[in-house]
Amino acid sequence: MGPDRHEGLQQRMKYAMLVDPRAEGEGAPCLSLPAGTALDDAAGALLRLLAAKECPDRILIVVGGEEVGTTSSTYLRAVLGTQASRGPGDEVRAAAPGESTRFGVVAFRCAVCGSSAYTAFYDDRYRPECREGDHGPMELS
Ligand SMILES: [Zn+2]
Repeated sequence: MGPDRHEGLQQRMKYAMLVDPRAEGEGAPCLSLPAGTALDDAAGALLRLLAAKECPDRILIVVGGEEVGTTSSTYLRAVLGTQASRGPGDEVRAAAPGESTRFGVVAFRCAVCGSSAYTAFYDDRYRPECREGDHGPMELS
């Protein structure tokens, strides 16, 4: 069971501003978010991911098991950076999106090929599957 087509479309529209239309989804690590994640929280989780040491330059956004689209670090920084500097003064800058996120980001790694995936939640029962092939569930990185 998954979201039906209509919900899938609504979901893609909801997160459309986070998606880089030019980013290739092929081979990009994915970030899984719970169904119904607020746009701000999704943006926050992505920003956290981009701030990580081993920053992926492209990320496939998955919400509630549904692929929303791919984004790139360059695109995301441009889009969210623009938003953060919208107001006057440094106080506004200090409250940039991502600071108030409810989500941490959990990193997983495939033991077979070393590719990465991320979730914005930690659930013992949930482990992302490697997208590169029949490598099975990934391990906590
Ligand atoms: Zn793998």
